[in-house]
Amino acid sequence: DALGLDKENNQEQIPTKQSNNKNKSNYKEDINATRQSLPAYKSRDALLSMIRENQVSIIIGETGSGKTTQLPQYLYEDGFTSNGKIIGVTQPRRVAAMSVAKRVAQEMDVKIKEEVGYTIRFEDFSSSNTKIKFMTDGILLREALLDNDLDKYSCIMIDEAHERTLNTDVMLGILKDLLQRRKDLKLIITSATMNAMKFSKFFGNAPQFTIPGRTFPVEINYSKHPVSDYVEAAVKQAVNIHMSTSIQSGDILIFMTGQEDVEVTTDTIRERLLELYRKKGDFTSPNDDLEDIEIYPIYSALAPEFQNRIFRKLDISKRKIVIATNIAETSLTIDGIRYVIDCGYSKLKVYNPRIGLDALATTPISLANANQRSGRAGRTAPGVAYRLYTEESVENDMYTSTIPEIQRTNLSNTVLLLKSLGIKNVLCFPFIDMPPIQTLLSSLYELWSIGAIDNFGELTKLGTEMSKLPLQPSLSKILLKSVEFGCSAEMLIIVSMLSIPQIFQRPKGREKESDKERSRFFIAGSDHLTLLNVYLQWKSNRFSTKWCTKCFIQSRSLSKAEDIRKQLLRVMESQNIQLKSIGSNWDVIRHCICTGFSHQAAKLSGLKRYVHLRTGMHTQIHPTSALFGMGDLPPYVIYNELLMTSSEYLVCVTAVDPFWLMESSLLMYDIKKQNAENEYSTGIFGNNSNVKANKFEFEGARKLVSEKL
Ligand code: ADP
Ligand code: MG
Repeated sequence: DALGLDKENNQEQIPTKQSNNKNKSNYKEDINATRQSLPAYKSRDALLSMIRENQVSIIIGETGSGKTTQLPQYLYEDGFTSNGKIIGVTQPRRVAAMSVAKRVAQEMDVKIKEEVGYTIRFEDFSSSNTKIKFMTDGILLREALLDNDLDKYSCIMIDEAHERTLNTDVMLGILKDLLQRRKDLKLIITSATMNAMKFSKFFGNAPQFTIPGRTFPVEINYSKHPVSDYVEAAVKQAVNIHMSTSIQSGDILIFMTGQEDVEVTTDTIRERLLELYRKKGDFTSPNDDLEDIEIYPIYSALAPEFQNRIFRKLDISKRKIVIATNIAETSLTIDGIRYVIDCGYSKLKVYNPRIGLDALATTPISLANANQRSGRAGRTAPGVAYRLYTEESVENDMYTSTIPEIQRTNLSNTVLLLKSLGIKNVLCFPFIDMPPIQTLLSSLYELWSIGAIDNFGELTKLGTEMSKLPLQPSLSKILLKSVEFGCSAEMLIIVSMLSIPQIFQRPKGREKESDKERSRFFIAGSDHLTLLNVYLQWKSNRFSTKWCTKCFIQSRSLSKAEDIRKQLLRVMESQNIQLKSIGSNWDVIRHCICTGFSHQAAKLSGLKRYVHLRTGMHTQIHPTSALFGMGDLPPYVIYNELLMTSSEYLVCVTAVDPFWLMESSLLMYDIKKQNAENEYSTGIFGNNSNVKANKFEFEGARKLVSEKL
């Protein structure tokens, strides 16, 4: 029960709701007092009249001033839903959408999914009663696909717009046009203090309102020397603060880059403190635990039942340490933080259009992020921030603000979406910041090569079907194609397994042992089939966690894959996509995978080396691949991912027949004439035909560019 949390929260933060009226009115009074203490409350009337008088309003306010939780309620109270239309609020992050919806429901004293609801990918907690609906920006985009005018909304609030996520940027572009058609629609853009001017300009000098903040000074401390291990440095700093200050002086918030660092930091702080307490003789028995401290990790993928713990009000004798990704920068406000420790990095998606690579990279944060992070310490009283980087590095290495996502990621999905929205020339779409033309072109190319758009850049029937699946285009294609191939049950598993991070563990000191275990799952010539095999064996071991541990497999990742599989199955059912199994006829599955990845193909060239068929780039197979140790490497492979470290590696590889490549991308590849007919034998090794990339011209894309330039 995802909502079990709320009960717990109610009890801890506000008097328990009970049927007798006295308690009920206490509860209401308490909520009202809390609401009225927020900075937004003083500006309530000014905000409402600005929104009434303007179609677009930009609202700026410090984190925690009440933008997300209060504004939608003000609009609701002021009758913005009385015409039968509803208030929609977007969030860049799933966790935030879920968490704020629950909070607002609590404040309004209603059940979630009734007046207040939320929708995130694969999870819908909204109903026909819902008046305030929180959702991710991606969900609103999907809704725009079904209803171009977004007719059910009277008001749309794009929250956390300063984050400039890909979906937020695209949504703003769509709204710019939509506002012309729907003069009655109100658009509210809320932002932390950075970047607000840009939104105002984009919407024809829309008025801005800054909610007067109440922030306290934050003392900033830099590292004297560059830090080589920021996890260790953060642990030391946190332990130091905890041991040298009184618990009442406030809670600690640590910013890390991603789930892994967050978990390691959480565990290490615990261990370190236990050790210290033991040494000091605070513990009388070996089972004693840390009594004056709660350590909470928070990141997007954390199970929902653990997410709301960070808001708990602890007993006065206890201190809270929260270890967070940049999720706590602006979207979640934790009260009571007085100390911030900032590692100086975050994980960013970075795309290189030349090679078609999209990767999460640990990157130095921008100055705007750094200030945002430090600011978390001064919300309720003066605070202290410890930056685990030098003052010089701020001047030398940091950008003023982060490059918007749209300028650094693969846009295939976005382009497909824009095409489905009927936007003919994506290069003319009103982007708030134009993405690199190269990226748009390479996305058009990818979509064309897998048959989502035709030679003139028009969406094909297949492309339309693909846009309805919540997956990246290549994966949508192989899932749709698998029905024809009769292997959709298997493809569904493969696609789900590809949506999760690394499943095999390789613990330090046990490399050999774990490599051996891993190799037992290998299916000759295919990492995709190896993934399928892992899943099938896990299933035949009744999804056992013990089995996973024994085989050096991350059971959590597998459970997540199973979750995604079930969710996708529901989507398939709603689209009438049939589930068919082909059993162990694995060549058919390889053939089907090839139909979605012919633009990511490589050819054996020399000992253990491959050249990329299209770009001519030299690569090799990643050591973790099932193909790596094969004596005879297959002459042609497709890959799921390109990894660039010291050299270029193909990750998740499957051997393909060159004829398949040609067949699925006739315009792209050519097989030399002398290899005609009988040379087209299928199989992993039995083929020495010579596939060459065609010197092709993509008419549609070329036309679009020349129109633009
Ligand atoms: P903003 O959007 O301006 O950053 P919010 O509306 O998110 O501000 O937060 C207003 C207040 O509500 C803050 O004090 C925050 O701590 C509190 N709050 C938000 N979500 C929760 C929650 N789930 N539980 C308890 N308090 C919350
Ligand atoms: Mg907010």
